[in-house]
Amino acid sequence: HQSHYTGRMFTPPSAGQRLHLNFNENNLGISPLAREALEGCLTQVNRYPDAPHAELVAALAEHHGVSAAQVVLGAGSSQSIHVIIEAVSRRAQDAGQPTQVVMPLPTFDAGLTASAARRLPVRGIPLLDNLEADLKGLRAACEDFAGQSIVYLCNPNNPTGTVVSSAELKAWVQSAPQTFFLIDEAYVEFVTDTRFEEADAWVREGLPNVCVVRTFSKLHGLAGLRVGYSLSTAEDAGLFAGFVPEMPVNLPGLLAARASLADTEFQRRSLEQTLQARDIVVQTLDRLGLRYVGPNGNFVFHELPASVGGNRSYRHRMSELHIVVGRDFPAYEGWNRLSLGTPDEMRHMTAQMMEVLGQVE
Ligand code: PLP
Repeated sequence: HQSHYTGRMFTPPSAGQRLHLNFNENNLGISPLAREALEGCLTQVNRYPDAPHAELVAALAEHHGVSAAQVVLGAGSSQSIHVIIEAVSRRAQDAGQPTQVVMPLPTFDAGLTASAARRLPVRGIPLLDNLEADLKGLRAACEDFAGQSIVYLCNPNNPTGTVVSSAELKAWVQSAPQTFFLIDEAYVEFVTDTRFEEADAWVREGLPNVCVVRTFSKLHGLAGLRVGYSLSTAEDAGLFAGFVPEMPVNLPGLLAARASLADTEFQRRSLEQTLQARDIVVQTLDRLGLRYVGPNGNFVFHELPASVGGNRSYRHRMSELHIVVGRDFPAYEGWNRLSLGTPDEMRHMTAQMMEVLGQVE
């Protein structure tokens, strides 16, 4: 099929054009309205983007039902994560309190790198046997610590694509006012697990110790433009804003994000294609008899047959077919995180996967 968004026909990957299924990107492309905004902004890039910045903030505030004073943009949600860990730990330091950062492991790296940069101790809590985050273990780690705990929780988690029960999480948030919750909802749009509720509702309700980060890198496909944001109380947003440079997102990023946010048709298609791609992968894994968890993101974390010789060897086999699949997660040597491409790409990919993983059984 010809892609509606890139105008390209699917062609099998080759040495010169490898199929990238390793960074949880959006292979579909971007909103045509975002593309138009990008093409049209070249004559304006000599100007500072004050107004476009304020317009994106206002649009996001309206989208989430919060005030503009509760939204802080970042150069990708990665920057928001760094800024929030920096700001909350400094506030604790000013109050004479040490900070620890508590997170399930494995999870997305930004929580670790932000903590390492600040020399903050990290309490990593291993996943449960079903590969879901261990809420009780996380909670115990916080209750154990005299000082400020920051819980960095990706819901859904990366690399596993599992969610934690929102009801259970919310009850914890409400019962632990001294603990700060940084909830990373990079993959929120792709969730199908019914135990999940979007945590922006908790910011709307005014829970003071919770902050949600979101990104335009996944559903919207704007990873290269680096646009993310946080939602929090206005007071915390004021604190966070002090740690972000003025206008962290450039003009193209602001305009493309604004256009994409308004393009509900693109969002609908992007989600539909991702879920189709996910079905193709899940059906293949079922056929191969391989376990997987979630999946609630634009990727699937799945088991490898022992006979393939671990993740590295599997990656090597796939790379010979010009397909780049996910990386090592040390505690999960026998698993792989497969990012989802378009349905055409995943039909090709899973056919190869059947060959590579089927024949070694
Ligand atoms: N949060 C999670 C859980 C992710 O997996 C990723 C990217 O893979 C990000 C945040 C980073 O997104 P951004 O491009 O907005 O920095």
